[in-house]
Amino acid sequence: MIIDSHVHLSIYEKQAISLQDALDELLEEMRRNNVSYAIIIPDNIENDAKIADLDSAISLIKGKNNLFLLGSPQIIQRGSSEANRYKKLFIQGTIKGIKFFPGHDPYYPTDERCLSYFEMCQNLGIPVIFHTGENSNNPELSKYNDPKYIVEVAKKYPNLKVVITHYYWPRIEYCYEVTKNILNIYFELAGTADDEVLEKSGGIEKMREVLLKTVKDRPDQVIFGTDYPMCSIKKHIELVRSLNLSEDIKEKVFSGNAINLYKLSI
Ligand SMILES: [Zn+2]
Repeated sequence: MIIDSHVHLSIYEKQAISLQDALDELLEEMRRNNVSYAIIIPDNIENDAKIADLDSAISLIKGKNNLFLLGSPQIIQRGSSEANRYKKLFIQGTIKGIKFFPGHDPYYPTDERCLSYFEMCQNLGIPVIFHTGENSNNPELSKYNDPKYIVEVAKKYPNLKVVITHYYWPRIEYCYEVTKNILNIYFELAGTADDEVLEKSGGIEKMREVLLKTVKDRPDQVIFGTDYPMCSIKKHIELVRSLNLSEDIKEKVFSGNAINLYKLSI
């Protein structure tokens, strides 16, 4: 079984003309690739007709029991004031984790405004996900999501489940090294099979090497994700298949680890 733990509802890629259409296209793309479930990450940009924020994602996916949601608080606009809202959303089962966008937005993972979220997430067992890596339009911004700051968070909250997505590309080896001994860090694979990411990160062999080391170190803590529709689901499935993992580990990466991490009722 395959669970894609990182998709968006957006029409930026022009594969759809409305968000409803983007949802239909996502479901179709899941069928084409035998993806059984997907976790939608609402964007941190609100009220944009081109990408679903939390409110529009909640209403769009109503009744779709193969789709789950994360929350993404507005740290810049609202600081820590939304913690209670996200707590309620988690308790009622609407969201399965909370995604932070340092580097999309100008704040560090260690920012004071994030701390009450981390506290709450640690207490309730809610995983937190950090966007990392280069922003093609503005490479400067990746200073905000350097994994050394994520390591600080993971150390300060040792029972918090801390997920890194995009492997801080193009510095994937650095990201591996700096996180190596931190046990509560997870990796989610969105973007790792993207052409631009691979080209800038040292090629597909380099990516395979780093991912293999990561899976060996953390067989229960690597989860499949793609960043669809910006990235191809098919290419990400092929990348994971090309690692030649044992059946047991492959099943964990494709679905088992996400079910455990996000406590998905499947
Ligand atoms: Zn994404």
